[in-house]
Amino acid sequence: MNMIKHDLHVHTHLSSCASREAFISGYIENAKELGLTTIGFTDHAWDETIDGASPWYQSQPVSRLLARKEEIKNIDLSELKVIFGAEGEYANFLLGMSENALEFVDYLIIPHSHTHMKGFVLPTDCIDNPEKHANYLVKSFISLCLHKNRDLFFGIAHPMSPVGMTVENIEKVYSFITDSMLDECANAAKEANIFLEANLSIINKIPPEAWENLCIKRFYDSCKRAGCNFYLGSDAHNAQTHTYLHENYIELLEPIGLDSYDFTVAQRHIQTL
Ligand SMILES: [Zn+2]
Ligand SMILES: [Zn+2]
Repeated sequence: MNMIKHDLHVHTHLSSCASREAFISGYIENAKELGLTTIGFTDHAWDETIDGASPWYQSQPVSRLLARKEEIKNIDLSELKVIFGAEGEYANFLLGMSENALEFVDYLIIPHSHTHMKGFVLPTDCIDNPEKHANYLVKSFISLCLHKNRDLFFGIAHPMSPVGMTVENIEKVYSFITDSMLDECANAAKEANIFLEANLSIINKIPPEAWENLCIKRFYDSCKRAGCNFYLGSDAHNAQTHTYLHENYIELLEPIGLDSYDFTVAQRHIQTL
């Protein structure tokens, strides 16, 4: 059977929201047992040469991530490819990364949907307003695809998937997003050749009874129609969850209508990262 053998979105103890025990060595052991061929660490980060970081990001400059490379020096990696990236930020149309960041990391994924960061990512007039929230998601997604620094990043983390909301509230937001808006997003991503993430943590947090007719699937359907490519990201914040998500990834991808074959281009492209 075709298997997905990469995970490009993993948090270590260097992310303030991750487990203090989330050591690279533990993930590497897991990855080998799970049969992964590539694991990519993407701690939260802001490029300190860019003004405008929130206090949470001010304490997480991208330069601190260079230290991770030391952690694998004495570890037997066998055949496993380990890459060191970062999860950046697109905060109310401000990209918190520049070329400077690539001195410290191998690749970048950028989210546009950390809309639980109200007043920083999500503009204040969109708070508790599902229609404006919906418009913000669509506009921020498209403008990220068209960004003048688009070449800096590999993919978009949890695209069109607002973080930290109940499924009921996500559905309310999606009720204001038409299929033609989603097609516009998908075409922008395709045009810009951006890899889109299938985020296992987000699906895992949605109760299984809501998996059928999941609103976010409409976005992935549009992306498949447009011919976009996808990569897998567990978004694990500790090693146990990392194992669980990978052991169940086939079931977790079903609600968004993806299977292993949708990841073959990414699997190949990763060799170049
Ligand atoms: Zn994220
Ligand atoms: Zn993350």
